[in-house]
Amino acid sequence: MNIFKVFTSWLFPKGLVCVSCKREIPEGTTICDQCYDELPYLEDKTCYKCGRYLDEYGKLCRICIGSKKHFDRGFSVFRYEGNARNIILRFKSNHALNLTEFLVDSLSERFLETNEVVDYVSFIPMTEEDELKRGYNQSEILACGVAKKIGANMLDPLEKVKKTSAQKSLNFDHRRDNLKGAFKYRGKKIEGTVLVVDDVLTTGATADEMSRVLKQKGASRVLFLTVCSTYIHYKSGSVQ
Ligand SMILES: [Zn+2]
Ligand SMILES: [Zn+2]
Repeated sequence: MNIFKVFTSWLFPKGLVCVSCKREIPEGTTICDQCYDELPYLEDKTCYKCGRYLDEYGKLCRICIGSKKHFDRGFSVFRYEGNARNIILRFKSNHALNLTEFLVDSLSERFLETNEVVDYVSFIPMTEEDELKRGYNQSEILACGVAKKIGANMLDPLEKVKKTSAQKSLNFDHRRDNLKGAFKYRGKKIEGTVLVVDDVLTTGATADEMSRVLKQKGASRVLFLTVCSTYIHYKSGSVQ
């Protein structure tokens, strides 16, 4: 082994790689400086209700301006694009430990900035069949991590009792119809505010249907916290 290799193996221990580009990184970090600078953090210009990026004047996005929603507010860390999108896709196919840590830390920091207080943390359930196929529920992994970090209890889990068709091509109203009756809550009566954690907020129809069920069982407020949220194109209303 030459001296340069000895030096780099000490500086960058084998196996420690950037969560986005997979280049080797120093110990104690999870993302390289270049990828960090390129992360599409959501800043001030966001929808007051669901928290997604807003490219127009006003306070609400096209989806939130429409019919009344059951959830109270949503917050996200990133826009669903670039290396944030890559990280989510990688997390869904392989929940490597440093990816989970990075996502849980990002979510918890974002939540603490909101000054909201919650009693419970929850997650989006999968059908038993889907969970068996994937081997884990990524929303549950994130929710458990966030609950620990912010010091809240996990809520008795909801169940997904109805298989729903792939939602990519459906708009908010179609998605909401598609999800009707999909979730069941069999836990004790809920007293207080629930924070639901997930990876991506698209139209928000899943968030809305879950909120409807949680409120029916007593929740006073339901908040959503996601790693990424999609952008709604102002003119066409399409989800990107
Ligand atoms: Zn990188
Ligand atoms: Zn909105």
